[in-house]
Amino acid sequence: MDAARPLTPSGFESGPPAEGAARATPVMEQYIEIKTANPDCLLFYRMGDFYELFFEDAEIAARALGIVLTKRGKHLGRDIPMCGVPVHRSDEYLHRLIAMGHRVAVCEQLEDPAEARKRGGKSVVRRDVIRLVTPGTLTEDTLLDARRNNYLLAIARARASAGEDSRFAIAWIDISTGEFRIAECDRAAVAADIARLEPGEIIVSDALYADPEFAPYLRTLPAVTPLTRDVFDGASAERRLAGYFGLSTTDGFGALSRLELIAAAACITYVERTQLGQRPPLSPPVREPQGATLLIDQATRSNLELVRTLAGERRGSLLAAIDRSVTAAGSRLLAQRLAAPLTGADAIGRRHDAVAFFVANAVARADVRERLKAAPDLARSLARLVVGRGGPRDLAAIRDGIIAAAGLAAELERFPEIAAELAQATQSLRRPDPAIADELAIALADELPHLKRDGGFVRAGYDGVLDEARALRDESRRVIAALQGRYADTAGVRGLKIRHNNVLGYFVEVTAQHGEKLLAPPLNATFIHRQTLAGQVRFTTTELGELEAKIASAADRALGIELETFDKLAATVITAATAIKDAAGALAILDVATALSQLAVERHYVRPEIDGSLDFIVEGGRHPVVEQVLGGDGGPFVANDCDLSPPPPAPHGRIYLLTGPNMAGKSTYLRQNALIAILAQMGSFVPARRARIGVVDRLFSRVGAADDIARGRSTFMVEMVETAAILNQAGERALVILDEIGRGTATFDGLSIAWATIEHLHETNRCRALFATHFHELTALAAKLPRLFNATVRVKEWQGEVVFLHEVMPGAADRSYGIQVAKLAGLPASVIERAKVVLAKLEADDRASPRGFDDLPLFAAAPRPASPAPHDAAVDSVVAALASLHPDEMSPRDALEALYALKTKAAAREP
Ligand code: ADP
Ligand code: MG
Repeated sequence: MDAARPLTPSGFESGPPAEGAARATPVMEQYIEIKTANPDCLLFYRMGDFYELFFEDAEIAARALGIVLTKRGKHLGRDIPMCGVPVHRSDEYLHRLIAMGHRVAVCEQLEDPAEARKRGGKSVVRRDVIRLVTPGTLTEDTLLDARRNNYLLAIARARASAGEDSRFAIAWIDISTGEFRIAECDRAAVAADIARLEPGEIIVSDALYADPEFAPYLRTLPAVTPLTRDVFDGASAERRLAGYFGLSTTDGFGALSRLELIAAAACITYVERTQLGQRPPLSPPVREPQGATLLIDQATRSNLELVRTLAGERRGSLLAAIDRSVTAAGSRLLAQRLAAPLTGADAIGRRHDAVAFFVANAVARADVRERLKAAPDLARSLARLVVGRGGPRDLAAIRDGIIAAAGLAAELERFPEIAAELAQATQSLRRPDPAIADELAIALADELPHLKRDGGFVRAGYDGVLDEARALRDESRRVIAALQGRYADTAGVRGLKIRHNNVLGYFVEVTAQHGEKLLAPPLNATFIHRQTLAGQVRFTTTELGELEAKIASAADRALGIELETFDKLAATVITAATAIKDAAGALAILDVATALSQLAVERHYVRPEIDGSLDFIVEGGRHPVVEQVLGGDGGPFVANDCDLSPPPPAPHGRIYLLTGPNMAGKSTYLRQNALIAILAQMGSFVPARRARIGVVDRLFSRVGAADDIARGRSTFMVEMVETAAILNQAGERALVILDEIGRGTATFDGLSIAWATIEHLHETNRCRALFATHFHELTALAAKLPRLFNATVRVKEWQGEVVFLHEVMPGAADRSYGIQVAKLAGLPASVIERAKVVLAKLEADDRASPRGFDDLPLFAAAPRPASPAPHDAAVDSVVAALASLHPDEMSPRDALEALYALKTKAAAREP
């Protein structure tokens, strides 16, 4: 808890709040005017050493930050709620508010309070908002995670015309690195892209925000900001976008659709608004062609724990397991690539070539990694310098980055046969002018302060005038001491001293006995009497006065010169922004290539073969995360093969139906194959002995419902909604992982759903799939579905105990060993014994009246009703309601609510 600012008796600087109820004080008037102009932000209103928040803002912030809510004065007869945060700690509070999705307008005092007083007693200090801080538009190191991009994303929609779906375009910007991209996409891809990019903030038009179809989805996302229509205006979009880059047209950006222009212009306009006109150094927008990346929806991402675990931590995720990068920019690029694996075999191959180069050249790898460690975060330092928030250390980062880039280029140029991606990066490394680094190296001191206003960052000897100013300031004692010696000689008084106090400033002092001498000619021409004390007489001199004035202003002057120097150096850097940004990108690419090769060597990964087939062959595959947890170099983790390639002559891939007891390793096996596909297509080597993968264009992974009552949703409903999405969307190039689907309901329901799902995958989706299940009955399907392949995880029973071998092999599990697993888990012996008796009885009954799953007719679908059903209004209304549902666009909660609504409608039906 932080104490709020204590109430001071003076209240607002305009004096006590207005007496009576009706009138606002001048400060309140100013506050209300500024607040009215920024209605959707918390207003940080600068008052001296604090940012104050008032009214509802104060209540929100006090609750969010856990600081004390007090009151200050009255407005319209009511107490004004207030809280405050100290300016020197404001970054930390900003960080927490932004992380919770708030937006903050920072309002500063634009003049010294003394200036305001000069205008008259009632004058208010001039204030205005200098910046809007929103989750998607941050540049400060303290507010950003160094290893993650922070995107602002705009969604633009073209309404559906008859018979067509709505079309969308999205544009996203990381203003802290300058990245700027655009894509046109359909509804499902919008969600998949948002899941991939995890934008810090999303902007949409008011209309889209209120749209009954789209709004429920938007409500599931953090930090969505609705904006007025002009931001998404089509007529001015091109002009706004071109204007940002100082161009007259956007033709140079390639052919952008009207919708793409709108999304891009919305981003630009929002950046300008929040930065109050400052223009961060954005790269020209790059269009992401549709289908260029592997589509992975949100459920699959969290399920496979790509960038964080289900518990929300980076540790334990795939990203954490494979990240060997040594720079923040490299870590960000690696995360980007992991989030968006490619679908073009050639492009993937180019990345593999780069990794292969460093796998083969161990010395170059070690050397590059060593040099990269000295390369700072160029992109983010550059962005801060451009928007005027940079400090001396950002200049140093540019210097060190350029030097490191040149060194790396020289290192790589020794290899004429280098991989194409690396050759291109080498060229980019050479782009910044080395003269900039030279200039910075000469100009900057060895030790640098964090803030430029602290001064002391310009190296001695760089600027003669600055050196003089500093000499006066820093060496004031020496200058004065020299003067003291000279005066002692002139006056012939050995005990003459030059002293300093706050009343007189510098003065010459002699004992009373020598005072007369200095007061008489000729010395009185030099020494001017100031003060006579009991034992001493004090004088000043013209020279001392001048020297003192010089010393007093020297510090100011030195700082002024330093700030000018800073601006000059920053300007030099900014003119080279594009070259520096290119070099920054190249450093990140090198970091990723070496990091992935380091990983490959360390963990014995191999280069996968990627092609346009529908094959999927993994030999000796391992789970990249689990194997590291088990800590084995070929140690305890059991490698397994997988072959989902089309079994000739079938044109489509296989479905593995995996059975085996709990804890056998089914889930691990499913996931490892999905992760191998992701790693391969992001450009990494893979944890296997050999892998050949025909490009996957869409990846789905679902796990049967585990109880999730805490989050208050019907888990079975979630499971079904997610399964529906797969069955509706997966094409022949998809890879589908279904783990124990149907577990969330009664056995027969669950089994039937699993059964029908497999049939649908086999007959309609025709995709490669892995399906783990505890329903042994499903293995009968293999007899009828030619591309269904039964596999099982081997276990051994030994003296009544079950031993897990984690070996996947053809065949079906004979039984589930549930009781043995329960025994391993430590259930009391009496319970285990009783369970065995019950099981024996159940199995005997089952044999007596076989369920006969083998006889289930395949693909007969539901039997048709014998005669057309009589007309029923309730049925019509249910059907109409059903037809209007869009399952892909519903959150689990919406889906559940819709289900209840349907049930109510159905209940209205006459019996
Ligand atoms: P299931 O889904 O069949 O219940 P899991 O995949 O959850 O089983 O695996 C259970 C545990 O077995 C895992 O936590 C892991 O430690 C271990 N395990 C799984 N597969 C392997 C393997 N191939 N080699 C070694 N240990 C494994
Ligand atoms: Mg499992």
